Amino acid sequence: MSSAPVSASLKLFVFLCCWQLLLSPYAEAAVVLQYHHIDDHSPRSTSTSPALFRQHLEHIQQQGFKVVPLPQLVASLKAGEALPDRTLAITFDDGYLSVFTEAFPLLRERRWPFTVFVNTKPIDEGWNQFVSWDQLREMAKHGASIANHTVTHDHLVRRRPDESEEHWQDRVWQDVYQAEQRITQETGQAHRLLAYPYGEYDPELLQLLNGKRFTAFGQHSGALPSSAGWQSQQALPRFPMGGDYGTLDDFRLKVATLPLPLVGVSQYDIVRGKWRGEEHPLIHPNAEGELMAPRLRLTLADASVATRLTCFVSGQGKALMNRRETTVEVTSARPLSPGRQRFNCTAPAGKGRFYWFSRPFVSTDAEGNWLPE
Ligand SMILES: [Zn+2]
Repeated sequence: MSSAPVSASLKLFVFLCCWQLLLSPYAEAAVVLQYHHIDDHSPRSTSTSPALFRQHLEHIQQQGFKVVPLPQLVASLKAGEALPDRTLAITFDDGYLSVFTEAFPLLRERRWPFTVFVNTKPIDEGWNQFVSWDQLREMAKHGASIANHTVTHDHLVRRRPDESEEHWQDRVWQDVYQAEQRITQETGQAHRLLAYPYGEYDPELLQLLNGKRFTAFGQHSGALPSSAGWQSQQALPRFPMGGDYGTLDDFRLKVATLPLPLVGVSQYDIVRGKWRGEEHPLIHPNAEGELMAPRLRLTLADASVATRLTCFVSGQGKALMNRRETTVEVTSARPLSPGRQRFNCTAPAGKGRFYWFSRPFVSTDAEGNWLPE
């Protein structure tokens, strides 16, 4: 048989397939939700009331989202597989007791998978606000993935006074590795999935975890880009749902978001005076003792998205934006306030949906000290 007809039909298939992808920006959208407490009486900023959580789940069900285990979602991303639109993963950080008492019964009813990122120290020490290993095993029997949130829940990016880089690396890796060991000993699971305590990371941490083949999530919002070369698999976004971030209106908008169609992101390196591809989330005072506003350069796949893009800086309102065709430079009018801050960028994507992208920053005060927490 001649190969010509095969080749022609293959060309037609590739043409139709890729054309379809171009026409359908929704073909590869996945969102990861991040909860802490599902409780009316815990600290508001990290809590979702059980009644509201139930409403979230009802919306997910009504809208036909496909709820998948986070390890499976990550494996698809790594394999470069196209994800069905409205793919969703549900995660809980810290392993609070209310995940077992409030969230688990509602999720089990629906046979939906979910992931609990645990700190192993409070569980090993039997702190009463936290789940036990028995409760985690019970949830695991019904589709829960148990993943890593370190042993201690430290600020991993904070070096100790006079600590060498080698010592820092060793200390941080032990915090991650020992949690992974405990999870495997107690549940038999080993996903190499980490949620950064406080969502804080820096380039050295991304590199360390990449070398150890860990995938890691922050707490900056946004839809997951599939196979995006510009985004580190150690700095993946999730939508925090605690406090005001999880109101039903916000929830409806956020679960339906799409990844901003980006070709590249670079950040201005103030010390070296040039644009660089990697993320630099930590803001320290410069040699003159000033805190400088971060600058990002987003290169979009489409100039029409660039014109529709709006960016906000936490605590400051609208960001300063400078657009040139497919490129948008984004900065803040003033230096960021000390603590965790975000640049959040959105653009209408049609049919009431939004593209969403965010970058997290952690700034010291003007003296170079971290905020006490
Ligand atoms: Zn946490």
